Amino acid sequence: MIPSALDHGNCDTAVRASFLHFTADPDLSGEATEFVEDGLLILKQGRVQMLVEAAAWIDDLPDGSALYDYSGRLVMPGFVDTHTHYPQSDMIASHGHQLLDWLENYTFPTELGFADCAHADEVADFFCREMLRNGTTTAGVFATVHPQSVDAVFGAAEKLDLRLVAGKVMMDRHAPPALLDTAESGYTDSRALIERWHGKGRAKYAVTPRFAPSCSDAQLEACGRLLQEHGGLYLQSHVAENRAEVDWVAELFPDSRSYLDVYDRYGLLGARAIYAHCIHLDDADRGRMADSGAAMAFCPTSNLFLGSGLFDLGQAQASGVRVGIATDVGAGTSFSLLRTLAEAYKVCQLAGQDLSPRKAFYLATLGGARALYLDDEIGNFEAGKEADFVVLDLAASELLARRIERASTLDEKLFALMMLGDDRHVQATHVMGRRQYSRSAA
Ligand SMILES: [Zn+2]
Repeated sequence: MIPSALDHGNCDTAVRASFLHFTADPDLSGEATEFVEDGLLILKQGRVQMLVEAAAWIDDLPDGSALYDYSGRLVMPGFVDTHTHYPQSDMIASHGHQLLDWLENYTFPTELGFADCAHADEVADFFCREMLRNGTTTAGVFATVHPQSVDAVFGAAEKLDLRLVAGKVMMDRHAPPALLDTAESGYTDSRALIERWHGKGRAKYAVTPRFAPSCSDAQLEACGRLLQEHGGLYLQSHVAENRAEVDWVAELFPDSRSYLDVYDRYGLLGARAIYAHCIHLDDADRGRMADSGAAMAFCPTSNLFLGSGLFDLGQAQASGVRVGIATDVGAGTSFSLLRTLAEAYKVCQLAGQDLSPRKAFYLATLGGARALYLDDEIGNFEAGKEADFVVLDLAASELLARRIERASTLDEKLFALMMLGDDRHVQATHVMGRRQYSRSAA
């Protein structure tokens, strides 16, 4: 229940704007969307206290509290990118073929450079600033095989208070020798990183086998051991992205029923396991993912760019599995989750499915938070949540401004934003209440 007067002890910051957030999946509940046209978000020590009508409350703010006045702008919870690779920031838009030769020609040569700490720090810093510039405040991030590449990205995120789920790539075969660890060193290095970073500030550690073809049985077994030995860890990997990859996995692991089953045999499915792509799965795989609590990261720009195939959002939803949206930079072609949602819409169209703007923005906020099991902390503006949010200026480009003028409903406006929006429309990004990016100051 909203109190009738502001307890001044519960407000050190207020934000005035239009607010949109979700309390549930809008496809499953008609009352999942909350939109406050002229709202006031009351914060205390970086956490949400309440979201109220501005007119009734603006005169009641305690003296000395900070007020961010974004009247006329749209504020949403910070975007959640459930799968991306920071070391691939500089190889985005490399003209190449499909997954396996693209890894060989671009990814592996690029990732070799992350043995150098100064290089890793510089790219990690750029990556985190680019996240903020696009309104993203939480991400599931791959580093490289080098432990120092993990220190670089957690260190860069810590400076900006970003929430990262990240880990050292584990890969002991089928890559250049300088990029390989061993089952033993992968385990030992990961364990040291877990002790250094997991639960430090907003950092969460993810055991990160690159994908089944790059991991021996002994390494996959070591991944399972790490998960068993440390409570609350994440697991992130790739599954069923590309047909040639799926065929290769069948050759490498002839005893497994499916690609997904390889991971299952080593105990790598469950809560806080996030798998990118999930394109070439069958119903049994989807059911198994849903039952285990694992999540799918839908990477539309990457899947189109590498010609991998079309993610089936309808089937995923029918199976009850958790789904988040993801940029998958650098096979993905944008850091912007707005642009990513536009491509997600087109992928669904090709499958004869509709992606409503509400569902799309749910996926980019609370849905992503659920996929990462962080919905107790982030994803909407419920009381107690961490106040990560993005300030969107729908008039920042002439085309979107003209289209919005002709839109009469909230859904029409959101759809235009999702199809035409990009980093130009991000006016500011706040993390734990504090403004960490402002377009005008940039
Ligand atoms: Zn990926």
